[in-house]
Amino acid sequence: MFRIGCHISASGGYLAMGKRIDALGGNTFAFFTRNPRGGAAKDIDQGDVDAFLAFCREKDIDRIVAHAPYTLNPCAEKDYVREFALNTFADDLKRMEYTPGQYYNFHPGSHVGQGLEVGIEKIAETLNAVLFPEMTTTVLLETMAGKGSEVGVRFEQLRAIMDRVTLSEKLGVCLDTCHIWDAGYDIVGDLDGVLTAFDKAVGLDRLKAVHLNNTKNDLGVAKDRHEKLPDGKIPLEAIKRIVTHPALEKLPFILETPNDEAGYAAEIALVRQLHG
Ligand code: FE
Ligand code: FE
Ligand code: ZN
Repeated sequence: MFRIGCHISASGGYLAMGKRIDALGGNTFAFFTRNPRGGAAKDIDQGDVDAFLAFCREKDIDRIVAHAPYTLNPCAEKDYVREFALNTFADDLKRMEYTPGQYYNFHPGSHVGQGLEVGIEKIAETLNAVLFPEMTTTVLLETMAGKGSEVGVRFEQLRAIMDRVTLSEKLGVCLDTCHIWDAGYDIVGDLDGVLTAFDKAVGLDRLKAVHLNNTKNDLGVAKDRHEKLPDGKIPLEAIKRIVTHPALEKLPFILETPNDEAGYAAEIALVRQLHG
């Protein structure tokens, strides 16, 4: 089954999200587990979750890719920022178990001048503190563009984090096409080469989801500015090669392009057409 969807608002709860993505023509989606700027999450209503899971079975929605708040920085320098990351992460992983076997995606973090090595150590330390043996969720490290002091830009950095995590079988990677392009991976000119590099560094079996975005920037500028699929620096032929590539085709594709709901519906239809 080909899975395409987009980032949607979490308002109204789980069943509302299921209906929202279905109305847009999607069969997978991402949402923020709480206000993206952080803070308390709403209580989960078991009845809402049950209705959502039944709706998903009916509509063949089998993959959701929750997104951690982007203020969550597991390798922050300040203790209170790292503590927020730890508490939020742990709480989100508990909440994810209401929808068993799904994905929770997070930005590895920014080392804010402490250096890459310290960043990698602290991220692994956070993961070792929050992952638990009984969890059914897979935690996805997102590939980053390299703006500021982001960690997780080169595939080897993701590997270095995973190697330091005891329950590393709970980890996977979410590949963001805007981010890796901005990071310097030429997915337009040499998609196979990029995927081979990923396979060597991390292993393609660890690749679980794709954030399908175009970019406003040229290759390698380390900026991270998403663009609508038809408008950015990545031509549609290259997007087509991505969504039809045998190593990627089975993964959920999530649009995080600057669109309103009508724009997302149109892009979901466009991707379906490109996939054929
Ligand atoms: Fe993200
Ligand atoms: Fe992303
Ligand atoms: Zn981004």
